[in-house]
Amino acid sequence: MNDIYALLEENNLSRTPCRVEILKTLSRADSALSESEIRDQLAYSYDRTTVYRTLRSFLSQNVIHSISLEGGEVRYAMTPGKDKPHNSHHVHFYCNNCNGVFCISHKPFETPVLPKGFQPENFDLLVHGKCKNCTT
Ligand SMILES: [Zn+2]
Ligand SMILES: [Zn+2]
Repeated sequence: MNDIYALLEENNLSRTPCRVEILKTLSRADSALSESEIRDQLAYSYDRTTVYRTLRSFLSQNVIHSISLEGGEVRYAMTPGKDKPHNSHHVHFYCNNCNGVFCISHKPFETPVLPKGFQPENFDLLVHGKCKNCTT
């Protein structure tokens, strides 16, 4: 809980119940969540716009990050090691069996070497397969 308050403070975000709850939900989830999964897990119901706006403000501060899947579905997860920006480039894993999306955040990957003139802004590396829950 104190971590969440500290995170909000570091990002100059005031402590609103919706912000606190969304961060609580995302930090206890073991996989990335869709917007509707997040809404389902909130103790109080906030209207869609409030949840959407809260997610946008977290995204713009890189408190959370999004993972875009085929077909336009988006999942959200906490950004690991926010204080260490090089750690935020990490592999995502998509489970073909349960559709779960996982941040493999302890394994940051090397930034690809790009030709002169190409300026990278974000990296998306999605590995498809079977997650640990589905292989056991
Ligand atoms: Zn799975
Ligand atoms: Zn991630």
